[in-house]
This record gives sequence, C-alpha cells and structure tokens, in this order.
Amino acid sequence: MHVVVLGAGIVGLQSAWHLRLKGHRVTVCDPDVAGGATYAAAGMLAPVSEVQFGQERLYPLLVAARREYPRLVEEVGRATDLPTGFLDNGTLLIGGDRSDLERVRDHARVHTEYGLNIQRLATQEIQQREPFLNARIAGGFAAPDDAQVDPRVLCVALRDALSRELDPTEFPGVGPAVEWVAERVERVTGSADGPYAVHTDGGTEWAADRVVVACGMGCTSLNGILSDLSLDLRPVYGDILRLRPRDPVGADRKPVLSSTIRATILGRQVYLVPRDDGEIVVGATVREDGLDGIHAGGVHELLEDAITVLPALRHFEIADITARARPVSPDDIPYVGLIPKAPGILVSAGYSRHGILLAPLGARLGAALLSGETLSSEDAELLAAMNPGRIEREAAPNHSLTQKGPANGNHHR
Ligand SMILES: Cc1cc2nc3c(=O)[nH]c(=O)nc-3n(C[C@H](O)[C@H](O)[C@H](O)COP(=O)(O)OP(=O)(O)OC[C@H]3O[C@@H](n4cnc5c(N)ncnc54)[C@H](O)[C@@H]3O)c2cc1C
Repeated sequence: MHVVVLGAGIVGLQSAWHLRLKGHRVTVCDPDVAGGATYAAAGMLAPVSEVQFGQERLYPLLVAARREYPRLVEEVGRATDLPTGFLDNGTLLIGGDRSDLERVRDHARVHTEYGLNIQRLATQEIQQREPFLNARIAGGFAAPDDAQVDPRVLCVALRDALSRELDPTEFPGVGPAVEWVAERVERVTGSADGPYAVHTDGGTEWAADRVVVACGMGCTSLNGILSDLSLDLRPVYGDILRLRPRDPVGADRKPVLSSTIRATILGRQVYLVPRDDGEIVVGATVREDGLDGIHAGGVHELLEDAITVLPALRHFEIADITARARPVSPDDIPYVGLIPKAPGILVSAGYSRHGILLAPLGARLGAALLSGETLSSEDAELLAAMNPGRIEREAAPNHSLTQKGPANGNHHR
C-alpha cells in the first residue's frame, strides 16, 4: 500500500516510521521538515509533572505514551548510527517560596490522586541532588518516571532511519526507504474510499492509497476532500531558549544540572531541561496573542526566573531563542482517527502541549488503524479517547468529523 504523509513534524515522522515498519511504501511531503512546533519543543516526556486537575481523559494517554518511548528509541537507534536524544533523568518540581511550594503541593496532590509516582523531598535532599540550585528554594517533589528527548536530535535520527535501506532480517517485513517531497500540500482529491491524489504547491501530484494528515496547525488550510476538515485547533505560542555553558562539559567539567526542573517562582512557571552536553533549555511562555515572533517580555521573565532557580545560568551563552505555535485542541487531547467521509484518510493532529510525548502512541495507533488491524481493548480505548468526532463544534454542527458513527476503536479497517 502506498501512504502519503502530509507533514514531517514529530507526528508525521513517527507515523511514517510505524507505517514503514508495517511494510507500506511511504512518501512524506513537507517543505520544512521538523521546522514547526517540534523545532521549538523542550521534549519533556513528563506524564507526571504535566498532568493538571480535570484532565482525567488525558492522563492515561500521557502515561501510555511514556511507555512507548523506550521501544521507539531502541528501534530507531538500531536503524541508524545517530543519537536519539533520549534521557531518563526525572523531574524535580520545586517552589521558590512558601506560597509557591503550597501551589506545588496542590499539584502533587493531583498526581497522587491519579496514582502517579511523586515523592516529597526535604530541602537538603534537593540540594544534595542538585547542588547548583538556589539554596533558598523552599522545597519540592521528585517525579522519577519523567524523562526527556531532544526533539531536534530525534527528528534527525528518524529522518535518517526512514531514508536508509533497512535489513529485513533486523526489521522483518519493513517497507522501502521513504521518499521525501519538499513541497507544501495544497489539496487532496479522489473518491471517498480512495485512491487519492495529493497535490502540492510545486504543481506535482502524488497517487496515494491512504493519506495521513499530520501537518500540525497546517491542517486547517487544506483543500479538496480536506476542505471541511474543520478541526477545532488554535495556535498557542511559546517562546523558549537554549543556553550553552561557556566551557564545554567533559571529563573534567560536570554539568550544573542533571534533573529537569519545573519551578514555581512568585507564582510564575519556568522549566529547565538539561541536555547531556550541558545545554539547558529554558521555557516556555504560553501566549494566545497571535504574535509569530519572539516576545521580549516573555523571554525576559523566563530568563529572570531561570536565573533565580539556577544562578550559574547567568554565565551561560544564549545559543538560540525560538517561538512557535502549539496546535491546541479544546481539551488538550489530539485528534487521531479516520475521516468518516473519506475513511482512507487518517487525521493525526492537535497534539497541543504534549506532542513530543504523545507522538509514539498516536503514530502507532494511527498506523494500525490505517492498516486495518484489530486493536487490543486497551489500545481501542486509548484511540477512542482521541476520536476527532468527540468535539461537537457549535459553529459547524454537521461537519464531517462530528458525524455520528462508531467510535474510533471500532474502525478496524
Ligand atoms: C515552546 C514549546 C515547547 C514545547 N515543549 C514540549 C515538551 O516539552 N513536551 C511535549 O511533549 N510537547 C511539547 N511541545 C508541544 C509539541 O511541540 C507539539 O505538540 C508537537 O511538536 C506537534 O507536532 P506535530 O508534528 O503535530 O506538528 P509540527 O511540529 O508543527 O509539524 C507540522 C509539520 O507540518 C508541516 N506542514 C504544515 N502544513 C503543511 C502542508 N500544507 N503540507 C505539508 N506539510 C505541512 C510543517 O512544515 C511542519 O513540519 C512544545 C511546544 C512548544 C511551542
């Protein structure tokens, strides 16, 4: 089967990977591979520290997705010589002063209610684990099951793994190397059940038995069969910095941070994500102001709070500042499912604030659905939670994705 994937962010690349492993021929169209929200993301794989009160439907997805990562990085690592950027380093949630700590404690109560692994730490324990943190920090908690991946590093590895011929004795039944098209898709045409034609802005047309729509915020401006896709998505911008130590980390120089830190400082949130080469990612603002560029005030506050948490950062070099839009759905849950009016087309979008974490789950389940496999009851339940038809849009009550029909988990095509 020939599958064309629209978009090569973390979701499109991982979808292509799973489809290729199932033996399909895959073409990926994107004029700017991994240049969207994925390029900005810190890459926290943080089901524990991310989950908020009232997100009962989201947290099983986050926990299940976290379990997918070891297998993904093992497979991709086996297919390429390149690093995958995965680091199992846990998170510390800390409060700057007593009232900040009270907020962190409230957050920790939510985790405990959800049965997640979170442990109270005495101030001395925090200092022992992270001696460079500000000594006046009021206290905190450890979330040892959280991890991280550097999305830029992982996407380079994924692209390489997708482009190589793979040994079928290592990857039984694997499909051919992926074909890349560096063009923007404008529309998809064809009859309901396919085959489809994918038209790009370069004037080319690609025949496809199946299509995966994984173009993040770009999903809202596709034409042809996809013109009334009407996904309820809004851009939530984030500014984020990458800071580099002036002296490279090496045998004689240890990094100043080992765990990811999520801090509340005078009521504001900041996170610090240490990479294994000593770089520290500081993020992120959450803005709905429509500003594509970098927000000066937001960056100022991030730096101020990050330096309060880790004073040594003052001496780091700013390597990069990026702003991108997160493709956010009303309930922060992605849309993964077949389009009722064109059931050979899979939507995999709206990964909101957790797309790096959720991508391997959405990509694996989406590839299985598109391939007509029967899902386990656990997988069917996870997929049903991401059913695009769950959001009834007041503005367009009869649009294609809200048609009544079986839940995603029952579409074993
Ligand atoms: C500042 C910031 C920090 C974040 N931190 C984290 C984090 O720590 N952990 C986490 O799990 N998530 C995080 N996220 C969220 C995460 O980045 C997103 O959920 C995720 O990247 C979405 O991936 P995607 O592939 O759906 O979209 P994108 O990465 O936006 O990729 C979409 C791709 O589609 C392409 N495209 C668009 N239109 C078309 C078209 N018409 N034709 C062809 N291609 C097209 C684009 O060029 C792009 O490459 C963060 C996001 C931001 C902004």
